[in-house]
Amino acid sequence: MRRRVFWMTLAGVPLALITLAAGTAVAFPAARHIASALWNLPDRLPALAENGQVHFEPGAEDYARRVSILLPAAIAQIEAAQGRRFEHPVPVGVYTTPEAYAAANASGSAGAVGVSAFGRVVLSPALNGPQTRRLPAILTHELSHAHLQGYISAYTWVRLPNWFKEGLAVMVSGGGGAELVSEREARAAIERGEQIVIEDTGSFTNLSEIRLEHAPARATASHRTVMAYRQARMFVSWLHDTDAPGFARMMNAILDGRPFMEAVDTGYRQDVQSLWQKFAETRAEGK
Ligand SMILES: [Zn+2]
Repeated sequence: MRRRVFWMTLAGVPLALITLAAGTAVAFPAARHIASALWNLPDRLPALAENGQVHFEPGAEDYARRVSILLPAAIAQIEAAQGRRFEHPVPVGVYTTPEAYAAANASGSAGAVGVSAFGRVVLSPALNGPQTRRLPAILTHELSHAHLQGYISAYTWVRLPNWFKEGLAVMVSGGGGAELVSEREARAAIERGEQIVIEDTGSFTNLSEIRLEHAPARATASHRTVMAYRQARMFVSWLHDTDAPGFARMMNAILDGRPFMEAVDTGYRQDVQSLWQKFAETRAEGK
């Protein structure tokens, strides 16, 4: 309960918003990690001379240059897909040590490869090392979150269902965050009943997890997370592809700060459960 109160208080801080990229699901970040992230905002780090939007831990200047080169295309991709220009430029921080990254990413751990927190994007050293190929997609994924966060309040952000936020981010980034589960695997899981729970709203007690109706018995937590992201992306893509004008109306309502259920109704004149049923049936017929 104390944590809940803390969060409700923090929600008053502009853009007190946290989401984690796939690979780690932290349902409820500890207060000390949130405080650490606020204390270590990437804005406090040096910025590139050629691009003041990109900040770096000393030693990560080359990493920052890579991000700076990728940034214009990533920004254009998000603005085209989500229907509006960024409300303001989003600071991006890159790190060379897991310790500095963990201190800034609101989870206290270096596990997630990218995080959007407090309207900033922070990126793990792993994206300039062993997972370097994921950098363009994860950068774009996190910018999707930060783009929405620029328009809506922290409360409205948290009340958007996680499956929608993540499905959208994976879709607009071309797969960022769900690279390790194929569409075929996700479709088979849905048909076995191991499908994501289509919640109407998000909750302050679960800031990032997408729940499954029945979790596969032997899957690791990380596999379950990536499976959920993949299914969420497939459903959001289906919403987009079956009715692009409806999707645009829904996105516009979301960016105007309308509650999710109202935004879905504005776009599709149906509730999201009926839409999921149609999506699941279409998938089954398509076999
Ligand atoms: Zn995400």
